[in-house]
Amino acid sequence: MRTIVVAGASLAGLHSVQQLRNQGFDGRIVVIGAENHAPYDRPPLSKAFLAGTLAAEDLALAEQSDLDGWSAEWRLGVRAERLDRAAAEIHLSTGEKIRTDGLVIATGGHPRTLPGAEHLTGVHTLRTLDDTVALRADLRPGARVVVIGAGWIGAEVASTCRDLGLAVTVVEASPTPLARALGSELASVCTDLHLDHGVDLRLGTGVSGFAHTGTKVTGVLLDDGTQLPADVVVVGIGIEPATDWLHGSGLPLDNGVLCDPGCVTAIPSVVAVGDVARYRTPAGHVRHEHWTNATEQPAVAVRNLLAGTTLDTFRPSGYVWSDQYGVRLQLAGETAGADEITVVDGSPDDRRFVAEFRRAGLLVGVLAMNNAKLFGRMRRQLTTA
Ligand SMILES: Cc1cc2nc3c(=O)[nH]c(=O)nc-3n(C[C@H](O)[C@H](O)[C@H](O)COP(=O)(O)OP(=O)(O)OC[C@H]3O[C@@H](n4cnc5c(N)ncnc54)[C@H](O)[C@@H]3O)c2cc1C
Repeated sequence: MRTIVVAGASLAGLHSVQQLRNQGFDGRIVVIGAENHAPYDRPPLSKAFLAGTLAAEDLALAEQSDLDGWSAEWRLGVRAERLDRAAAEIHLSTGEKIRTDGLVIATGGHPRTLPGAEHLTGVHTLRTLDDTVALRADLRPGARVVVIGAGWIGAEVASTCRDLGLAVTVVEASPTPLARALGSELASVCTDLHLDHGVDLRLGTGVSGFAHTGTKVTGVLLDDGTQLPADVVVVGIGIEPATDWLHGSGLPLDNGVLCDPGCVTAIPSVVAVGDVARYRTPAGHVRHEHWTNATEQPAVAVRNLLAGTTLDTFRPSGYVWSDQYGVRLQLAGETAGADEITVVDGSPDDRRFVAEFRRAGLLVGVLAMNNAKLFGRMRRQLTTA
């Protein structure tokens, strides 16, 4: 292979470039990144960066010297528009076409939004640095914030807004947020965290629309007829994998780019990594939306890409963390679908505990709140189990 294009200049894209060089690829690497920014870290966007305690330059994922050392061509502010499989070309938003021998798809995801939100000011989603800057500008003293969705990002945004002294209402369609990942009993700890910190929590109700004056949002309308006043609305209802540019390429797409267990797509010279990749496991296709996964997959995907065949299969650590309301939650393994969940240390009431998740007697997952040490030990047992 002489040229490899990496589409997506963020976490998974950056790690792919690094792996390509570490694994001995000395040809041309072209990285196509839709955002104008060099790769930066997203987790602080809902935490310290939103709070204003971390500067934009501290988000950088790599030193300029590393970027230079890998001697890749970084085409930032440029979108990959189309993959022409027959010509082995990537069409760019600039009108250029790049011929390539290999492709790493690392385009992540776009946040979902709600009908009626498109043209309203004051309604935000949170995926990019620019999204966060725009949201932060709206978080003026006295602003009433409504967060739609109490998943990881919604909870973190709510927590940061409470730290900023703002009135926050969180609306969540399910009766217990995060129940799938944590089990309903332990997920109730997250519910309690919101309540303990003065959040007005509306569970088990959907959103039917928005109230507005002109184009400025003034409220959120709930399914049960309630109207919540709002100056700022944050929609945190998940992402759609960014596969729009791959339609018509012939690559199988279904809630992500479908891959084999080694992140290789139906075309052996095309691999997918990070939030956009949906790879095959014995239990079906799986897609992760977590930081650690985006850093782990590239090693395997790049090895298979350079080999031209699937030599390695991906084994996820399933590690996720979340910082909210002054506590750190850490999760590893496959907690969804466990048939036995036991608190093995501490107590949820004390906001410090470790729980193990078992399926058919086998340790499959670990969850900790504010106990990184024991979590670390149990996580190692998990990987060797
Ligand atoms: C606010 C926030 C907080 C988070 N907090 C945590 C956390 O605490 N813990 C945790 O484990 N995970 C967290 N995550 C998740 C983690 O950041 C993601 O899993 C990770 O960023 C995925 O990396 P990625 O490179 O696959 O995708 P992304 O980071 O989404 O990067 C994809 C890049 O591709 C670009 N792109 C898209 N389409 C195209 C195209 N057609 N052409 C060129 N470029 C394109 C995008 O603009 C983007 O820059 C958080 C995410 C967000 C948004």
